[in-house]
Amino acid sequence: MRRAGIERPDLPERPEEGLDPADWDALRELGHRLVDDVVEYHRRIGERPAWRAVPESSRRAIDRPLPREGVGEEAAYAAFAEHVLAYPYGNIHPRHWGWVNGTGTTFGAFAELLAAAMNSNCWGGEHAAARVEARVLDWLKELVGYSAEASGLLLSGGSEANLVGLAAARDARAGGDVGRDGVFGLSERPVAYCSTETHNSVLKSASLLGFGAAGVRALPVDDAYRMDVDALRRAIAEDRASGRRPVCVIGTAGTVNTGAIDPLEALADLCAEEGLWLHVDGAFGAVAALSPALRPLLAGMERADSLAFDLHKWLYMPIEAAVVLVRDRADHRRPFASAAGYLTRMERGIASGEHFYSDLGPQLTRGFRAAKAWLSFVAHGTDRYARLVEQNVRQARRLEALVADEPKLELPAPVPLNVVCLRYAPEGLDDDEALDSLNRELLMRLQESGEAAPSGTAVRGRFALRCAFTNHRTRDSDLQRFVRASVRIGDEIRREMA
Ligand SMILES: *Cc1c(COP(=O)(O)O)cnc(C)c1O
Repeated sequence: MRRAGIERPDLPERPEEGLDPADWDALRELGHRLVDDVVEYHRRIGERPAWRAVPESSRRAIDRPLPREGVGEEAAYAAFAEHVLAYPYGNIHPRHWGWVNGTGTTFGAFAELLAAAMNSNCWGGEHAAARVEARVLDWLKELVGYSAEASGLLLSGGSEANLVGLAAARDARAGGDVGRDGVFGLSERPVAYCSTETHNSVLKSASLLGFGAAGVRALPVDDAYRMDVDALRRAIAEDRASGRRPVCVIGTAGTVNTGAIDPLEALADLCAEEGLWLHVDGAFGAVAALSPALRPLLAGMERADSLAFDLHKWLYMPIEAAVVLVRDRADHRRPFASAAGYLTRMERGIASGEHFYSDLGPQLTRGFRAAKAWLSFVAHGTDRYARLVEQNVRQARRLEALVADEPKLELPAPVPLNVVCLRYAPEGLDDDEALDSLNRELLMRLQESGEAAPSGTAVRGRFALRCAFTNHRTRDSDLQRFVRASVRIGDEIRREMA
C-alpha cells in the first residue's frame, strides 16, 4: 500500500549500540567511587564553607560547548566532581537557613538512585512504585491528621501542590462548568482570599487559574502576622454585594516570612458558613503536626478541603517532593481527569489497578518520588522526624534568645515556630535606609565568607536577615557562631560606613 505524502529520508545501516557501558565492571567501580564520594561529601560538609561562589575556571568548565563526542562516564564524572559538586547551593550545610530549604539526607540520595534505576513511570497502573505512592499518601494523611478517605498526589513542590489544590477549589466552587466553558464562561467573577503574608506561589497559581491579580484579595494581618478573620468576613460580604463570587480562602500554616499560623479553625468555620473552599498552604508548617506538643498550633488544618505541604523542606527529603491532599476524590479529579485512547485502562496487566495519578495533576510521565519518602520513613521512623521538627523549633527559640541577649541585634518579628528574623541595629544608628543597606551588606558578607547562609526578607517593609530551621544538621554551636559572626561583620561594615 502506498502511503501518500509521507517522506522517509534514507538512513545508513550501522552496527547496533545502546547507552549501556562496554565494560560493566568499570562502571560498577565508578559507581562505588561515586557512592564513596557522596558519603564523604555529606560526612564532612560541616568543615566546608556554607557557600562558595563558582570560580571562573569552573564556570568555564560548566559552559563547555555542546559535546558532540562523549568523553566517557569516568571523565564526565571527574569534571562534575571538580566543577559542580564542589560548589553546592548550600542547603546540605549545617549553617544554611536561607529561604526554606530542607537538608536532604545521604540515604535520601541513595533512594533517588534507586528510583532512577527503576525509572518507573508513575502516571499510574499496576506496579510496585504506584502502590508505594498510594501507601506514602496514606501515611502523609495520617501524619497531619487528614481524613483517610481523602485523595492525594505527590508533586514537585509546594508551588505545584498549591496549584493543584486551587484548581480543585476553582472547579468545585466557581459556579458553572469551568472544565467545559473555561473561566470566561463564568457569570460571576471568581475571588480567592489570602493574606499579605501568603506565599507568592499562591498568586502564581491564581494567575494561571484565571483569577487574575484582581481576583485575589490579600487581607491584612495582626501583630503576629496572622490573617485578620474579621477583615476576611467583610471582604466576602463586599464581594457578594458587588456581584463577584467568593470561591476559596487560602490559609497558611507557617508563613514563609515569620512562620505565623493563620487562625485555621476560624477560617474553617467561616468557609463552612459561607460555602467556600478552604485551602491550606502548609509548605513547611504542616509538618509540625508530627509533634504532639506543636500539633495544637495547627488545629483546624485537618478541616481544609485541600492541604499542600512539602516533603523537601521540613521532612528533609531530597528536592523535589511535596504533596497535595484533597478531601473529596471527585473534586480532585475534576480539573485533571481526561480519557485518551493511548491511555486505555485494562482489566489486567500494567494499565490495570486503581492508581492513576495522571488524573490528579498536570503531569503524565511522573517520577518515582514516593521512593525517597517510603525508604526514609521506613528507615528512620516518623518519631525521629517528630523529634527533629521539635529540635528545629528549639533552635529557633535558642537563636531568638541569643539575639535578644545581644544588644547590637534586634528581633523584628515574633518567633512562633521555626523562623527567626533578625537585624543588626546598634545603638545610635536610627536611619532606616542606612540600617537596611547595612543589613543587606551583612547578609552578603555572611554568605560570601561562608560563615552562614541566612536569606533576606522584608518585615513590614524593612530589610531583615531571616533563618528558617528545616535543617537536621544544625547544632547549638552553629547558632552561637552565626550570632558572633553577625555582630563581628556588622561592626566591620559600620566602621567602613563611618
Ligand atoms: C516554600 C513555600 C512554598 C512553595 O513551595 P515550593 O516547594 O518552594 O514550591 C509555598 N508556601 C510556603 C509558605 C513556602 O514556604
